[in-house]
Amino acid sequence: MGSIRENLLLVEKNIDAACARAGRPREDVTLIAVSKTKPVSDLREAMACGCTVFGENKVQELRDKTAEITEPLHWHMIGHLQANKVKYLPGMVDLIHSVDNEKLAQEIEKQAAKHDLVMDVLCEVNMAHEDTKFGLTPEDTPAFVKKLQELPHLRVRGLMTIAPYTEDAETNRPYFRGLKELMVQINRDLPEDRQMSVLSMGMTGDYEVAIEEGATLVRVGTGIFGERNYQIS
Ligand SMILES: *Cc1c(COP(=O)(O)O)cnc(C)c1O
Repeated sequence: MGSIRENLLLVEKNIDAACARAGRPREDVTLIAVSKTKPVSDLREAMACGCTVFGENKVQELRDKTAEITEPLHWHMIGHLQANKVKYLPGMVDLIHSVDNEKLAQEIEKQAAKHDLVMDVLCEVNMAHEDTKFGLTPEDTPAFVKKLQELPHLRVRGLMTIAPYTEDAETNRPYFRGLKELMVQINRDLPEDRQMSVLSMGMTGDYEVAIEEGATLVRVGTGIFGERNYQIS
């Protein structure tokens, strides 16, 4: 691995190339720098290279980092979320990627209403039906999305998936393609002003394939910041 600057240049180059291969404009894809477990100094280095969107997977870490870094940035909650932590998120994050149960959705609705705002969310889908992962099954997702439409302070912008860990990104292509197809299918039953357009899919090992299959948000951690050291986190 190189420096954060070198890593970012490489990731940017790969995103450009994947967009070109797919015939997609570069502006269609937003890079989320996944900074979990990394020190604020690393985030500042990424900011100096132009990163403005950061992804974290723990509410406490989000609170600590947003308290320390007060520059205007976009923060995304990408990790599994417990309902009792939702109260900290209104006004702090632009998007919650990991909504996968009704209790959580109801709590987001409640807290957003309290702050008189509408919170953007994605539904997390477990495309590969992995026992170890959170998320709805693809089969349960359409009914869940329709249910969330009833909550006035919550807006479902799209779908998110964490594909299986693999050495060969190609093996995840069907899951990315499937997530896009699922979004298109669900959109058919949604009114014009409720159409979903966001696909959060692709991590360090497979973001290029995900872009080829329609990702609009890619979540890259290791590829930018290097390996995570959980002991010091
Ligand atoms: C950690 C994490 C990532 C980034 O993973 P890398 O393989 O380091 O790029 C992406 N998405 C989620 C939900 C994560 O928790």
